[in-house]
Amino acid sequence: SIVVTGATGHLGRLVVEGLLDAGVAPDQVVAGGRSTDRLADLAARGVRVVTLDYTDPATVAAALAGAEKVLLVSSSEVGQRVAQHRVVVDAAVAAGVQHLVYTSAAHADTSDLVLAPEHKATEELLAASGLPVTVLRNNWYTENYAQALQQAAATGEIVASVGEGRVASATRADYAAGAVAVLTGTGHAGQAYELSGDVAWTHHELAAAAAEVLGRPVTYRAVSTEEHTQILRSVGLDEGTTGFVTTLDADIARGDLADATDTLRTLIGRPTTPLVDAVRAILA
Ligand code: NDP
Repeated sequence: SIVVTGATGHLGRLVVEGLLDAGVAPDQVVAGGRSTDRLADLAARGVRVVTLDYTDPATVAAALAGAEKVLLVSSSEVGQRVAQHRVVVDAAVAAGVQHLVYTSAAHADTSDLVLAPEHKATEELLAASGLPVTVLRNNWYTENYAQALQQAAATGEIVASVGEGRVASATRADYAAGAVAVLTGTGHAGQAYELSGDVAWTHHELAAAAAEVLGRPVTYRAVSTEEHTQILRSVGLDEGTTGFVTTLDADIARGDLADATDTLRTLIGRPTTPLVDAVRAILA
């Protein structure tokens, strides 16, 4: 069977659905999550739904017992992630899993991206585990810009401190298709794939895509980190979130998400979703 962790999340659900669409028998798919009631529709389709909480190792061991493959969707609990992921890696070793696939971040081994260290540490755990592993180093989700796009719809502006930094984003559905291809294919063990959209775009291009979809002028207003900090504070964002947003923007300005590869499109056998199409879906 194939266990998918974080199946209550956006990406995990798309992978479970993608496995079914790819013809994997529902009883060979295990959807793991903390709130299994949110997986009821998948259970109704014959998927095995199990409780899987990274902070409760017994649930992880039970969920992985007898599994052939595991997709470890990186946890959303930033700061806790290495310990949480270790629980899954240990359970996978104990269960004799034949292939573990992990969703990492762009160039996690060398990147200065603020989110990279937990992914790098997890990749090191995986390497030390001796398991056959595939690392999916996912670049940004285009969906991360949902709020910015809603703001653009309201104000005609996208405000950010990324300068001319490029983002090689793809949609969650594109990355999910990549994960499905790896989980259902062969020859992927031992690989670390840099997965991204086909195109690395600037915020001017994001604004142009928003303008096209919205049918109104949208401009990108590039601000300094200091100015951005003031703006975020003035709209009531707490210090932690403000710091996180401006740090990520500085990372993007430096080019940490600028590497567009053709690895994802090759894996999924089609181009990744064009920016304007992703923007249209987000604003729909
Ligand atoms: P979501 O926030 O939608 O899903 C995160 C999943 O992690 C949820 O299923 C959540 O469960 C689960 N989770 C969190 N803590 C635990 C825990 N203690 N035990 C078990 N499961 C837990 O994120 P996405 O699906 O959109 O993205 C998947 C991952 O990718 C994120 O978790 C994050 O690591 C990373 N990410 C990547 C981004 C990118 O641009 N590349 C952007 C954002 C995130 P529950 O539903 O119970 O909360």
